[in-house]
Amino acid sequence: MLDALRTANSAFPFFYEYDEPLHGDPAEVHVKTPVVFIEGDGIGPDVTAAARRVIDAAFPHIVWHDQSAGASAFEAGIVSGVPAATLNAISETGLVFKGPLATAVGSGGKSANITLRKMFELYANVRPVIELPSVKSLYAGKGIDLVIIRENVEDLYAGIEYMQTPDVAQCLKLVSRMGSEKISRFAFAFGHSHGRSHVTCATKANIMKLTEGFFKEVFEKVAAENPEIGASHLIVDNCVQQLVMAPEKFDVIVTTNMNGDIIGDLAAGLVGGTGLAPSANIGDRVAMFEAAHGTAPDIAGANVANPTALILSGVMMLRHIGAFGAASRIEHALYTTLSEARYLTADIASDYKPVSTSDFASAVVDNLGYGSDFVPEREFTPIHTADIVPLETLRPVSRAFDGADVFVEWDGDVHTLAEKLKAAIIQLPFSLEIISNRGVMLHPSVVSEAETVNHWHCRFLHDGHDNDRRIQEAICALLAAISGVCTWMHVERLQSFDERPAYSKANGQ
Ligand code: ATP
Repeated sequence: MLDALRTANSAFPFFYEYDEPLHGDPAEVHVKTPVVFIEGDGIGPDVTAAARRVIDAAFPHIVWHDQSAGASAFEAGIVSGVPAATLNAISETGLVFKGPLATAVGSGGKSANITLRKMFELYANVRPVIELPSVKSLYAGKGIDLVIIRENVEDLYAGIEYMQTPDVAQCLKLVSRMGSEKISRFAFAFGHSHGRSHVTCATKANIMKLTEGFFKEVFEKVAAENPEIGASHLIVDNCVQQLVMAPEKFDVIVTTNMNGDIIGDLAAGLVGGTGLAPSANIGDRVAMFEAAHGTAPDIAGANVANPTALILSGVMMLRHIGAFGAASRIEHALYTTLSEARYLTADIASDYKPVSTSDFASAVVDNLGYGSDFVPEREFTPIHTADIVPLETLRPVSRAFDGADVFVEWDGDVHTLAEKLKAAIIQLPFSLEIISNRGVMLHPSVVSEAETVNHWHCRFLHDGHDNDRRIQEAICALLAAISGVCTWMHVERLQSFDERPAYSKANGQ
């Protein structure tokens, strides 16, 4: 059994556990699972200690490797917020269980969390949103039980920004085939392994056809390969409206990074807020489990914080390594503790006398072995993250060069700019097709009352096909010609893939 499971979960360097379902005794657990433990900042030490105690009581087969990150690292002058020893330990174990980390003070605003996500390509952020007993919320009783799976690396959060002119800022929204395909495949793999039956993809594909639309297109291809799980698409604003009106109808939602950030917190608010929300950040080889809340400096060190989110993150970690029985035992003990309402922390105690973080953890430990009717019933099977690989077959086969978009700084009027540019490129194999400003076409001849800024988008069409070297030379000649008229900031190559234009049109074009 053990060998079979090791092979099945070869994504992780250490995978050792198999046990029986709820109320059964752990069986065939012989080898220890190493996990990097980062207590974190603010309330981190309180909630991680509590969650670790609960995990150890249900599953005494983890060897915790205490490491640091966050405030202590920044204070020691480590700008990334994560010491090399911590990175090495994570690389070795492939598993991290952590508390919230403080962000560096100062204009740099470095986040150790983001360092960890990027260093280990933790591309999938998983946020279960599940109604908990005794937690007051507007939606209590609806039986909300959904999971938000968010692409965690790309999109506007790649963090590539420029001031294009002194007056215009730009952020690059990067959406790759690999990123979209991996997160889509992960969503279906997660659905299979967590007994889920439907995946909804939420994008703004109607407006951002080449980024959000690309994500949707890739999702739909992956969905077609997974007919056992239902799949649909919602425009993201419609998705949030439906989430607020009928959240119980959702199962798994997969989406791009920024959409997911917003939807994740909105959905957490439906069941009591981010203070109760667990999360996981999953990559091919490393998986990191943490609460969605921050360091809560207002209650740090007071032993009053609610460790529920982190205990549930522990449940996610145990399921990730295949310890389904232990995960269920903790979940049932936690739900039992919450529904008894005798031991609740201050944030949810309302009419009851609150207990401390550590007393709440003790109550959960005492309840291990009890079952709760509140726990949603599901079948769990191992998830094989190493099998989630993009397929080359989805790539287009042909490409053509259509021209170039050049963004220029210009303080005059559009007609003068157009005349000067046309004169400058007269000897070149390009023609000026349009000029737009903030996405609105203003040349040739569109009547518009749009206000303009000093950042102009000029589209030059190329007069025919050529080899790549000559195309690049032509673009350089085009830029040289434009330099005689105004200052250019950036250039985009216009291409068609499989005869479809791979660039957007301006409003009015
Ligand atoms: P950070 O800057 O690290 O994100 P923050 O205070 O801005 O910290 P959170 O840490 O998420 O954001 O806290 C927001 C509010 O929720 C605070 O009032 C905090 O006390 C409360 N809170 C967050 N987590 C918990 C928890 N686990 N138990 C009780 N209250 C919590």
